[in-house]
Parts: sequence; structure tokens; C-alpha cells
Amino acid sequence: AFEKNTVIVVFGASGDLAKKKTFPALFGLFREGYLDPSTKIFGYARSKLTHADLVANIGPFLKKPHPATDDPKADAFFNMITYVSGQYDTDDGYLELRNQITAFEDAQQMITPHRLFYLALPPSVFLPVAQQIKKNVYSDDALTRVIVEKPFGHDLQSARKLQNDLAPLFREDELFRIDHYLGKELVKNLIPLRFGNKFLNSSWNKNSIQNIQISFKEPFGTEGRGGYFDNIGIIRDVMQNHLLQILTLLTMDRPISFNAEDIRDEKVKVLKSIAPIDTSDVILGQYGKSEDGAKPAYLDDDTVQKDSKCVTFAALTFHINNERWDGVPIIMRAGKALNAGKVEIRVQYKNIPTGMFNHMPNNELVIRVQPDAAVYLKFNAKTPGLADSTSVTDLDLTYANRYKDFWIPEAYEVLIRDALLGDHSNFVRDDELDVSWKLFTPLLNYIEGPDCPAPTIYPYGSRGPTGMAEYLKKNNVDYDGTETYTWPVTSPN
Ligand code: NAP
Ligand code: NAP
Repeated sequence: AFEKNTVIVVFGASGDLAKKKTFPALFGLFREGYLDPSTKIFGYARSKLTHADLVANIGPFLKKPHPATDDPKADAFFNMITYVSGQYDTDDGYLELRNQITAFEDAQQMITPHRLFYLALPPSVFLPVAQQIKKNVYSDDALTRVIVEKPFGHDLQSARKLQNDLAPLFREDELFRIDHYLGKELVKNLIPLRFGNKFLNSSWNKNSIQNIQISFKEPFGTEGRGGYFDNIGIIRDVMQNHLLQILTLLTMDRPISFNAEDIRDEKVKVLKSIAPIDTSDVILGQYGKSEDGAKPAYLDDDTVQKDSKCVTFAALTFHINNERWDGVPIIMRAGKALNAGKVEIRVQYKNIPTGMFNHMPNNELVIRVQPDAAVYLKFNAKTPGLADSTSVTDLDLTYANRYKDFWIPEAYEVLIRDALLGDHSNFVRDDELDVSWKLFTPLLNYIEGPDCPAPTIYPYGSRGPTGMAEYLKKNNVDYDGTETYTWPVTSPN
């Protein structure tokens, strides 16, 4: 249950994630009444910050409520926070932290204290901090939850090492591995949409579906901050984790219940049914200058290695060897510096037989995760009037129109609350992580090995490398460029 007097410690409190996501999410929960005012929050990092410094860091990133008010709650929230400065690998800071935590808990006469540790830290200090937590601020009498952030390793071997290092410190039920996509409203909606709608559920298989596309497009490049990205690439950055989570939720079988282990069992099952990725059936790209020369190439970023072969665009196709999906290609693509910014799922249905119809475009169910959350189904209908012609129209659920007065929480708000409640459904389990790295590591080894051709250069601001159209066609995607479907842009009344 939702406990009073919980202690939350944010390690790496001086950092980017903490100020942009962790603290603002804690504030959002507090503002909406989902974080009890009795909660005690500690920020911990090496930097010598005053409380005022921390407030000044976080303040600009706190979101105003909707509709906006003067937000008197910010001060009350800041009063819940105490900052403790200390090293990550020596005892002193942790002992100070422990004194403060136990003083707080003793004053509240807590019998079973509840401690949540959030590791907003670079992977290099991850393990020493976990060890110090266990040594100095863990209590057998307390309920402990530890939230950890990606990257969970760099490949199968390093992910297993991290897992083996952490396993003796914390039990699996104490660990919450964040993949923030699992907190996004439209991703959380995949289970209810699929299993709560007979018409979708009964067509959700190889008999009706021709292909599924999962797309991530960013309209900007690394813009001078590519140092981190250069060692990672687009596949590790968004595909092995975020997009694979979407794929899994889209394709798994019906879980027995909403119970976390029931859901994660099904996820692992479908992941294990995915065939190895065919390295000869991928498109790899890196962005060059924009066609007008105004936008820089990836290699113009001074923070990336000269001659870097880093992949900033990839398209991969998955085949799931099970009864439901046999023969249905699932195309995942992700890229930086493209013509648009969006994350969407496009489920393309099979062709309508010709005969009575000359040509009918395929139905498509589009789930737009971001921006402008929406679910729409493109379907064929008679064009109004005397003629018999048909055209593509849509059944449309645009969130901004339909759910005007709803608070749609940020992904981090959702996930921190889940962790506080001890609900693991939207966190990545150890065996799930292992299968996902097993799937991607051979591809990454190929790309980073000697036999992989250099990525194809595509212009900044374009739709990606040439060859995409043929690639999609080869993988069963029908694209009817002549189709006259347009989306009427009307302002909601
Ligand atoms: P960060 O700002 O670079 O680091 C957080 C804090 O850790 C820093 O303020 C610094 O605090 C300390 N630190 C930084 N480098 C260190 C080093 N080499 N050795 C010891 N301490 C160091 O990182 P972040 O962007 O907040 O990311 C934290 C974690 O979240 C990472 O694992 C990252 O992959 C993940 N993540 C970040 C984002 C994001 O939006 N930033 C999104 C998703 C996941 P002190 O010097 O004060 O101790
Ligand atoms: P769309 O988003 O314009 O694109 C349909 C698909 O065709 C996408 O996979 C797209 O790839 C691909 N494509 C587009 N141009 C292509 C080209 N030249 N060559 C090869 N492939 C191409 O189409 P839509 O889903 O039919 O929607 C049309 C517009 O209406 C969109 O702007 C959509 O946002 C809007 N709409 C909005 C709502 C709503 O807000 N509720 C509802 C319905 C429609 P890319 O993903 O790479 O572009």
C-alpha cells in the first residue's frame, strides 16, 4: 500500500536526469496528491550544493499544473528535500545519510521503514554506489526499492556482468529497471487496446495483419553533444530497449492477469520466439549535411570520433516464429536528423481481394505514441455523393480532443509511483533483459566488426537512407503514394 513517511534518496542529485526528470516527476506526483507530504526526500552527490543551489537547478524544470496556477506547492515540495554531499565510493557520506535517514524514521516511529533509492548516475559509479547502499543504508527491517536507469550493459556479456554484480546485493523484487517508454500513456494503453477490444483482438494475427512498423524519428542530430552517442549508436540508444518493449507488448499473448509476473512471463515468451536478426536484411545509415548545406553532418560534430562509423539510422526486421505471427514482418526503424519527430506504431492489414473493387488501400491502425498522442484507424468508405467511389477515411481518437480535462502523467511520474507501490509490471525483469541482449548482440557485433560496410549517408532532414522504399516493399509493406488521403486539420471546439 501507499505508505507515509517514505524515504526517497536520489543519487546523482546534481545531474541532468535528476533535475530534468526525477525531481520534476516527484514534484508532479506530490502536486497531484500521489506523493504523501510526509515523504522525506534526500538528494546525494559529490558536488557541494546548498539547498538553494539545488532548488535553483530543479526549479525551471517543474511543470505547472493544467490549468496553470501560481503553483504554491513548489515551496512545500522543496521543503521536503535535504541535500547531502558525499563521495560515491567511501563510507563518510553514506554514514551521514544513514544518520539523517534513521533520525527521520525514528522520529516517525516507523516499524517497517520504506526506502526508495533512485540511481540517477553514470554507469561507471553504479556498482560502487549499489555496494555502499547495501553496506551502509540498507536495513533488513526496511522495505527497500532500488530504481536503476539504462544503460543496463553494452552487450550480453556486460549486461550479465552487471546483473551478476547486483544480484548478491539486491533481490530481484527490490530492483526496478526503468525503461521510461513503459510509462508512456500510449504504451501503457497497448494491453487494454489489444485485449479489451474484440475487433482488434480477433484480427491480431497473421491471418489479418500483413506487417507491423514501429518507427522512431527525431528531427535533430547530436548537435555538438555526440560524445556519449558515438559509443552507443541508435540501436542501443532506442531499439534494444524502448522499441523492443513496444514490440513485445504488441505481439505477446494474453497474460493471465495484470499481475507483474504474469505480464513479464508473456513478454519473455514472445521474445524467445523471435528469430535471430538477419544481418543481411538491415539498413544502416549515418546522417550527412542537409541538402541545402545548412545543417551539419554527424561527422561535423567535434565530440565524435573522426571517421566514426556510428549508426544514426537503422531499419531492422523481426520474424516471430510462433503460431500467431509466422510470416508477418515486424519492421523497426529509428533515426536521428530526419524529416520529422515522432514515435508511432503502424499495423498494416492485409489486402482486400479485388474483383468487386478495383483497388482498396490496406487498413492501417496507427498508434502515435508522441507527439500528440492519438490512435487512428484508416479505413475505406464510400465517398459521399452520387458516385460509387470510395476513399480512405479514419476513426480517430486524438487525445487532446477527447481527453481535454485529464491529467496525463509523465512517464517518470507513472514509473516512480509504480515503484513506490511495489508494482513491477512496467519495469524490465532480469530474464527479459537477458533475452533482449541475446537478440541484439550478434547484430551489434556484426555492425562493429570488420565485415560490415560503412553506413549509408543520408541528408540531414530527409526520410533516411535511399533504399528504404525497396526495403519496406520487400518486407510486405504496401505504400500507396498516389493515395489522396489527407487529415483535415480542424481546431477542436
Ligand atoms: P550525469 O548528469 O552525467 O551524472 C549525474 C551525476 O553523477 C553528476 O551530476 C555527477 O554528480 C555524477 N557524475 C557524473 N560523472 C561522473 C563520473 N565520471 N564519476 C563519478 N560521478 C559522476 O548523468 P545523467 O544524464 O543525469 O544520467 C544519469 C543516468 O541516467 C545515466 O545512467 C544515464 O544513462 C541515464 N539516463 C539519463 C537520461 C537523461 O535525460 N539525462 C535519460 C535516460 C537515462 P557529482 O559530480 O555532483 O557527484
Ligand atoms: P503518414 O503519417 O503521412 O505516412 C504514412 C506512412 O507512409 C508512414 O509510414 C510514412 O513513413 C510513409 N510514407 C510517407 N511518405 C512516404 C514516401 N514518400 N515514401 C515512402 N513512404 C512514405 O500518413 P497517415 O498515417 O496516412 O496520416 C496522414 C497525416 O494525417 C499525418 O500527418 C498524420 O499525422 C495525420 N493524421 C492525424 C491524426 C490525428 O492526429 N489523430 C489522425 C489521422 C491522420 P514516415 O513515418 O517515415 O513518414
